[in-house]
Order: sequence, then C-alpha cells, then structure tokens
Amino acid sequence: MDAENLRKYLEFYQDLGVKTVYRRVAVGRASEPAADLAAAPAQGESLLTILQDIGDCTRCPLHEGRTKLVFGVGSEKAPLVFVGEGPGADEDAQGIPFVGRAGQLLTQMIEGTAKKEGIPLLRKDVYICNVVKCRPPGNRTPEPDEMETCGQFLYRQLVTIAPKAICALGGTAARALLGHKEGVTKMRGRWFQWRDIPVMVTYHPSYLLRPYNQDAKREAWEDLKKLLHFVYD
Ligand code: URA
Repeated sequence: MDAENLRKYLEFYQDLGVKTVYRRVAVGRASEPAADLAAAPAQGESLLTILQDIGDCTRCPLHEGRTKLVFGVGSEKAPLVFVGEGPGADEDAQGIPFVGRAGQLLTQMIEGTAKKEGIPLLRKDVYICNVVKCRPPGNRTPEPDEMETCGQFLYRQLVTIAPKAICALGGTAARALLGHKEGVTKMRGRWFQWRDIPVMVTYHPSYLLRPYNQDAKREAWEDLKKLLHFVYD
C-alpha cells in the first residue's frame, strides 16, 4: 500500500473513533494475514478478493451468533452504494443484506422513487452492504470495536467500487462513515464526504417502518430523490 492509501486508511479508523492502531504479529494459519494493515487494499482489488480475505471470519465476537456472513450485494460497478448498520435475522439466514421487512421497504423506495422520477433503476443496479457483516445479537447496535474490526472491509468495498455517491442509512452508518456525533435527524438530507465521495444521509428503513412516522417517510423520499438525480441525471 502506498503512503497516500495508508493515510486514507488511517483517517477512516480515526473517523470511527479509533485512537490507536498497532501491527499484529503473524500468528496461526498461513492463510491469515500477518497484520490487517498489511492486508489492506492493494489498489485495483476486486470484491471477490475482499470476500476471500474475510473468509470464515472470527475477528470479532459477532461471528459467534452468525448463521451466514452478509458481505454485500449488487454490481461491482454500481455508481451508488447504500450502507446499512448490520444484518438482521432474515439477512443472517440468507446471507444477503436488506431482504427482511426493512429491506423490502428499501427496495420499494429505490425502485419506486426511480420510476416516479423517470430513472430506469432496479435494486440490482446499486450496491448494498452494511457496516458490520455479521448479525449483532438481538439486532443491537454494533459496538465500536466490532465496527472497527469490520470497518476495514467496508473501506475496501467502497474503495473498490468507487461509486459516484454513497447513501448512509441511519445514524450508525452515518457515524461509521463520517465520524459525526450529530443525530440522523440533523444530518439527513445533507451532503457529506467520505474521502472524495459525496454521502447522503437518510433515515434507516427500519425506522420508517414504525407507525406514526409519516414526516420521516416523506423526508426519506425527498432525500432519495435528491440522491438519485445527483447520481443518474
Ligand atoms: N438492517 C440493516 O441495517 N441491514 C440489513 O441488511 C438489514 C436490516
């Protein structure tokens, strides 16, 4: 990895709130990287390489309750990436992000908004992934150390895809990507930057599924409209 990439990589951890990084000494199987930093992205790697590198991951405690690791779905060349928090029960069972109730709403939002706005776009044309790749027990929010451990893979996915824009779904994704402490209500509908890629923050679809959230639903649709026109016009 060259100096510029190393700097960006370390900044990503800083945004996650990590104050110290250290080189891990090589232990265990030959297939394990000597140090996670040393295994960091060679530019031009593929999503498959990243997935192979994750392997049958046991790097954090979330692996203990996992059925399937949920890496991400969609096109490697997608101009738009949606980042959620972490897999729920349906995703854990199927190994695919956003396939449960929240996922169905996300699909409807993407495809429905695109159709209304005259943009030919299906869910398969975007890329969808999460901050952590394994389901947190009881769908709790991932812990900072879990996000830190898994963060390198999100980083590498985003560098590899290099989309035109990223959509952070909910506060956890927004904080993991941007390091902001503000709540999602304050951040939604605004543009931020991850490295040099514009990031739109909006509500997590699970939040929109709660009753009495009409205003939030309307706002999320507005955010999505803005995002889709930015990426596809
Ligand atoms: N919620 C998320 O944040 N991600 C999923 O994949 C499903 C639900």
